[in-house]
Amino acid sequence: MNTKILIIGACGQIGTELTKKLRSIYGLENVIASDIRKLNIDIVNEGIFEVVNALDFNQIEHLVEHYKITDIYLMAALLSATAEKNPAFAWDLNMNSLFHVLNLAKAGKVKKIFWPSSIAVFGPTTPRINTPQFTIMEPTTVYGISKQTGERWCEYYHNIYGVDVRSIRYPGLISWSTEPGGGTTDYAVDIYHKALKEGTYECFLSEDTALPMMYMDDAIRATVEIMQAPAENIKIRSSYNLAGVSFTPKEIAAEIKNHIPEFTITYKPDFRQKIADSWPASIDDSCAQRDWHWQHQFDLASMTVEMLENLK
Ligand code: NAD
Repeated sequence: MNTKILIIGACGQIGTELTKKLRSIYGLENVIASDIRKLNIDIVNEGIFEVVNALDFNQIEHLVEHYKITDIYLMAALLSATAEKNPAFAWDLNMNSLFHVLNLAKAGKVKKIFWPSSIAVFGPTTPRINTPQFTIMEPTTVYGISKQTGERWCEYYHNIYGVDVRSIRYPGLISWSTEPGGGTTDYAVDIYHKALKEGTYECFLSEDTALPMMYMDDAIRATVEIMQAPAENIKIRSSYNLAGVSFTPKEIAAEIKNHIPEFTITYKPDFRQKIADSWPASIDDSCAQRDWHWQHQFDLASMTVEMLENLK
């Protein structure tokens, strides 16, 4: 059977890049992009696009039947910082959209699901350095609680109903072509924009806050690779740890200074500092390396070159 893909949340930071990549691999006619609104002209105009609400099971089911979808990538969610401002709605969106696609797979209407988790599943009691795949998970944000719960349900649907669901715990993602969607790691995108435009940046995290991050190209490649891996290689059906590069605001500022010597940074931590403090500083992704041969490519230096070049 041909692969026919539905991406829900295709106009977001990850969805935009993922849609472009999947269209280039599987062909324009085999990738249906969707979002709650027509938010990105390229995504809407370059291929098939449908408006869909991830909370409406009937709408998703209709698209699945109409286009004979085999694989769903569910990218719609409320992210960490935004979710804290509207916990009840974040819970509703993040959980019920997942149930909708899991139930479609359980009913045999789609074959494969990709659902992103996050480093936000970890909490203040988790070992912070080189956080293992299996460890204490006591998230303190509604976003983290929704992702951890989502992971449990993914594993359950796989174990009990045989659903082929695959997931990655993305670290903070850094990209130049789309704006980030309201997460705690957004500063690492903003800083490049402000460095080029204004030569200075006020950071909402303190200078020594180390967080796991990843350049978008690596994250998209990981997403494609885990979905293309043979099912028997995917041993973990909750979600895989994934590591790219870890750095602090001070370190990224120093790297930017190598290219823009006059760049300055100041620090004014806000409510996001508390969220960042509850997350790991670095991640052990040896299970992903072992099971589906994951290897990241971009480090802080090569990512900075790419970001500055492209944003210019
Ligand atoms: P984003 O906020 O940039 O994009 C989400 C998209 O979903 C938006 O285009 C939005 O319009 C759409 N959407 C929202 N509600 C919808 C609804 N009801 N129906 C249909 N579409 C809806 O988010 P992102 O950064 O692209 O993240 C995508 C996924 O990856 C999320 O599950 C997020 O939790 C996860 N993730 C992201 C990061 C990151 O750094 N960006 C890190 C870890 C995990």
